[in-house]
Amino acid sequence: MQKNPPLDYCEVTPSAAITPSAHGWRAKCLQRLVRLDLPVPQTVALPAQTVRAIAAGHTLDTRAILAHFGATPLVSVRPSPENPDWGGPGTVLNVGMNAGRHMALVQRHGAEAADALYLRFVQSYATHVARLDPDMFDDIKPGPKALDEALRQYEREMDEPFPEDPAQQLSEVLRSMARAWEGTSARLLRQAKGAPVEAALGLVVQAMAQGIGQGLSGSGVIQFVDPVTGLPQVTGRYLGNSQGRDALKKTEAMYLTRDPRGPSLEDLSPEIFGQLAHHGAACRTRLREEMQIEFTIEDGQLSVLDAVKVQRSARAGLKIAVALAQDGIISPEEAVLRVEPRALSELLHPQVDPRGARDVFAKGIAASPGGAVGRLVFSSPAAQASAARGEPCILVRRETAPEDIRGMHSAVGVLTERGGVTSHAAVIARGLGLPCVVGASGLRLETKDKKLTAADGRVFREGDLVTLDGTTGEVLAGAADMLAPALDDSFRTLLGWADAVRDIGIRANADTPADAAQARQFEAQGIGLCRTEHMFFDEDRLVVMREMIFADTSQDRAAALARLLPMQREDFVQLFEIMAGLPVCIRLFDPPLHEFLPHSREGLRELAEALDKPLSDVTRRAEALAEFNPMLGMRGVRLGVVLPEIYAMQAQAIFEATVEIAKKGAPVVPEIMIPLVSARREVELVKTHIDAVAAAVRVKTGVQFDYKLGVMVETPRAALRAGEIAQHAAFLSFGTNDLTQMTYGLSRDDAGRFMNTYVQQGVFPEDPFHILDVDGVGELLHIGAERGRHTRKDLTLSICGEHGGNPESIAFCRRQGFDYVSCSPFRVPLARLAAAHLAL
Ligand code: PEP
Ligand code: MG
Repeated sequence: MQKNPPLDYCEVTPSAAITPSAHGWRAKCLQRLVRLDLPVPQTVALPAQTVRAIAAGHTLDTRAILAHFGATPLVSVRPSPENPDWGGPGTVLNVGMNAGRHMALVQRHGAEAADALYLRFVQSYATHVARLDPDMFDDIKPGPKALDEALRQYEREMDEPFPEDPAQQLSEVLRSMARAWEGTSARLLRQAKGAPVEAALGLVVQAMAQGIGQGLSGSGVIQFVDPVTGLPQVTGRYLGNSQGRDALKKTEAMYLTRDPRGPSLEDLSPEIFGQLAHHGAACRTRLREEMQIEFTIEDGQLSVLDAVKVQRSARAGLKIAVALAQDGIISPEEAVLRVEPRALSELLHPQVDPRGARDVFAKGIAASPGGAVGRLVFSSPAAQASAARGEPCILVRRETAPEDIRGMHSAVGVLTERGGVTSHAAVIARGLGLPCVVGASGLRLETKDKKLTAADGRVFREGDLVTLDGTTGEVLAGAADMLAPALDDSFRTLLGWADAVRDIGIRANADTPADAAQARQFEAQGIGLCRTEHMFFDEDRLVVMREMIFADTSQDRAAALARLLPMQREDFVQLFEIMAGLPVCIRLFDPPLHEFLPHSREGLRELAEALDKPLSDVTRRAEALAEFNPMLGMRGVRLGVVLPEIYAMQAQAIFEATVEIAKKGAPVVPEIMIPLVSARREVELVKTHIDAVAAAVRVKTGVQFDYKLGVMVETPRAALRAGEIAQHAAFLSFGTNDLTQMTYGLSRDDAGRFMNTYVQQGVFPEDPFHILDVDGVGELLHIGAERGRHTRKDLTLSICGEHGGNPESIAFCRRQGFDYVSCSPFRVPLARLAAAHLAL
């Protein structure tokens, strides 16, 4: 026999020394309810230390505990972990029930009610404490014999009678709950929810409020906000002659407020309903939270048994936090901290209603959040045709390529069979705020036959209606119920509070006027990356672009560029106008030229026609432009050095747009960024050209303007040589997509194929294209930032890869003293909030 340590416990009174870390959140919450003078039945709290000792085999004097509850007590035992999200063993009701108490209850409430209570206890004791199979009671028919049968069944299984001694019952219940907490699966489950290894459990023993009786008796659950919208609304259920959370399970339960659908507690007893409303309001102001109250009514007497934080959707969480702050119950800073940044992305798009039915037929990577309902299409032209008919469509592709951009613009959602979180489809979809699921590898896609076969054999064809859930990565058959985006006043108010405290800038990656407008709507502080190549994919420009690529002489090339110039100028004028004086950082042309060429024979033939050249010439030229490793080939600044006319045209367009805007009285200082730099000399060469263009535009227009030239750090060498590169750069912006690709030697377009395996096997803790690899890529950022700033104290530092919208990556950039992060417009709100969390 082990020596018993002192096993301590205490009664929950206003002055008892109860803490969430020692006794758990439930014990603490009950004490708060007691302090608010709510009618809480007598309660005893067992601290975690005691529960641990019980699990280890020590015994507690349960007779002494029961003495707190009078001569013939019935009690409930509930779990009380430090954090309610960590779960815990199920509540056991009616401990103390035996033949004697049963008899007394028969006399007071009749045999039926008394039997029901006893039976419930026998069943829950048998399954939770004696660990018997719950099915063993399945054959017992309801009726006057049911209780005896259940007791006999228990005796048969256990070879001993059902325990009669309340102290023994309580000891066993406590022991089984304490041990359940220590079990391996419970441990893994709570650790998955973020509980520490040493997470402890407290227990509370509470006098049963019966919920049965002659007068008004029953139990229920009430809350004062809608858990999906967060708007004030009484929801919950009440059930006469019931206990625990029965009311939530049974269809015959009634509403709480007056309701045309049926009788309500408010009808039955406006008085008790009023008391509940009063208690709810007290909880809200004093516990500073929207609480769900569990209550019991016994002969017209209300008891409050428990209160838990209302479970809520992301949108409700934001609404509730803002309302509490606006009512002066919590501070704006606390409201900011109460909203999880990642939850915001759920609010920016229509959502698939979590309450609706879900007929899932495929699952992939959730690449861009939000839900969309549309008809399946299998090509970009079909998507455009569908949009022209006004029919929302979901574009399905094996993977997307730049020529799919117009199709993506026309679709309401994108599904790809291949790819990962930084694949083309994912990046573009996030930029467009389009729900997107990538890497749905369980699907069989037959593009030619316009057919999609799900893993379960179901076949979907062009025109079939489906729902894409980019938040969960699921694809559903048919049109699911949807929720509208929630960019309301509460959203803006909360982000306004966040801006007031954060200390790192947030800009948006925006390529088009529509992106820029979106960036403004989400209150970005400027554009951190405008990828200009996206401006050349529109039908009219693509033709000229191709003419430029196919030019035989530099005069022909100059002629094509001269036609592109006014289009680019207009692009920049629009961007500057929309951004209204906020900084705009424009990246010069980056991708390999062959991305602008058609890939099919059909496309090449059309191109030959358009250019009035023989097909063989066009094919030969296209082949000559092909590269074995285009991501490491003739792209970025390398194009700028070899074909300087392209950058010269872009610079001219930027400066002329600057002048045009300046003439309207709104000066802009454009920021021009050179991509894929790896050597100082590259910057020198480009800078010389651009300075010359600036001088020429100044002379030609007679208007003075400033501009800033910066470098994108996307190659490891640029990070290492940042000290000398910064001699010619006013700013460095880390392009962590390419930098990750090159640091790992990992193709951002192909890594999706093995990324899951790599993460599952722990080779990478996370997908490094998704969460910045602080150890490797992060060290390059650190070196680049330090060496750059060593050369130039006032060097502006930023990040513009996809990581810019990721809270952990923002935290890293902030620690490195970066000036701003830049991310897709739809991630700007999340970034604003995440940055505020870091500063608080
Ligand atoms: C990057 O490489 O991080 C970047 C922002 O540029 P892009 O994604 O256009 O290559
Ligand atoms: Mg890049």
